[in-house]
Amino acid sequence: MTQTIIVVGAGHAGGQAVATLRQKGFDGRIIMIGDEPYVPYERPPLSKAVLAGELEVERTFLKKDTWYPDKQIDFRANTQVTAIDRRAKTVTTSHGENLAYDKLLLATGTRVRKLQAPGAHLENIFYLRAIDDTLAIRKQMKPGAKVVIVGGGYIGLEVAAVAVKMGCDVTVLEGLDRVMSRVVAPEVSAFYDKVHTDAGVKIRTGMAVTGFEGHGKVERVTCADDSFFPADLVVIGVGVLPNVELAADGDLAVDNGIVVDEYCQTSDENVWAAGDCTNHPNALLGRRLRLESVQNAVDQAKTAANAMCGELKEYAEIPWFWSDQYDLKLQIVGLSEPGDEVVIRGNPAERKFSAIYLRHGKFVAINAINMIKDFMAAKKMIAAGTQLDPVRAADPEVPLKDL
Ligand SMILES: Cc1cc2nc3c(=O)[nH]c(=O)nc-3n(C[C@H](O)[C@H](O)[C@H](O)COP(=O)(O)OP(=O)(O)OC[C@H]3O[C@@H](n4cnc5c(N)ncnc54)[C@H](O)[C@@H]3O)c2cc1C
Repeated sequence: MTQTIIVVGAGHAGGQAVATLRQKGFDGRIIMIGDEPYVPYERPPLSKAVLAGELEVERTFLKKDTWYPDKQIDFRANTQVTAIDRRAKTVTTSHGENLAYDKLLLATGTRVRKLQAPGAHLENIFYLRAIDDTLAIRKQMKPGAKVVIVGGGYIGLEVAAVAVKMGCDVTVLEGLDRVMSRVVAPEVSAFYDKVHTDAGVKIRTGMAVTGFEGHGKVERVTCADDSFFPADLVVIGVGVLPNVELAADGDLAVDNGIVVDEYCQTSDENVWAAGDCTNHPNALLGRRLRLESVQNAVDQAKTAANAMCGELKEYAEIPWFWSDQYDLKLQIVGLSEPGDEVVIRGNPAERKFSAIYLRHGKFVAINAINMIKDFMAAKKMIAAGTQLDPVRAADPEVPLKDL
């Protein structure tokens, strides 16, 4: 009898999973359900080229919209899955349908963390997660507009770089004592702080935002130290939360993400999960984690789709991410931790250097800034658990791959 696979979530992981299922020759029924109006698309360009008006929205689509009917994929846009009945093996949709599955994949991703503060409802306060957010922000980004960005992480700084280039008056308010502190060493934060400041962005660290004021529309942002910042628009980037409620209500194991094994299987043998929403083990890192990265969404989606087709291939990848700001391509491999030894390789003043992270002499992570060769070599070396001599690692004349 024909099998049915239902994929909940039409983001990066959902889109990759349905493609892999068909590539693997799964010829049963596939239903992909997504609560957005678009076919699966890439989010990274939303805070970069799409926001800058340099890339058409359609170019972010993983596959053309005609690909789904061509591959007999029943794609339901603007539809939310509201419940899972694991005993009956059905899902309920926001349109009141009950759809039966043999196998289910949860690829529900994350949603933005909302800032709970007085005035947070005012107009022109935005978050950036989806295509429509980018289009709405771009509309307001006129030359001379006062843009206040809350959060000096990747997304906040990428938006700052685009906005200042468009002629906006940009201020970034970061609560901690340095930008991107969650993911890079102090040396790298200091470099990015200077780059943005040189470009005309005002970076204010140690700022606790307390609220927003205005008549209908936001006019200023207030902070705990009684300072305030005039604003025509505000973009908030203060992190995301995994969409786990559907899984939790369906009595699946959840712990900062839907708990899966190395094959992306949940606590139910007929249910898998992939992408930002999962808490998964990584044998190379020797621990469980939840990751917000395209690479993880793609790799886990392939792992889950393979497993659904009966092919067990363990997920074990060294995480990697990137961020584009101005002419700088930052590529991060591995996960650094406070206490790691940091070796700077190359010259920040030339806008070309790497920060190498060593833990007990072992190469565990890198932040490569316009250093593509370091990035490529680091991917293999970190996965292999290479030991590095910090003195030789600091010499950019010695290719990293030769160390
Ligand atoms: C602006 C921006 C820039 C980024 N830049 C980078 C970058 O440079 N590099 C990088 O590696 N990563 C980047 N990321 C992160 C990356 O986009 C995510 O890691 C990736 O999209 C995760 O894919 P996913 O499929 O797990 O989740 P998502 O892409 O979030 O997709 C999940 C989908 O499921 C839908 N959904 C949730 N619940 C339901 C339900 N019950 N019913 C139906 N649908 C549901 C959601 O609305 C969403 O459409 C960026 C993200 C953003 C927002």
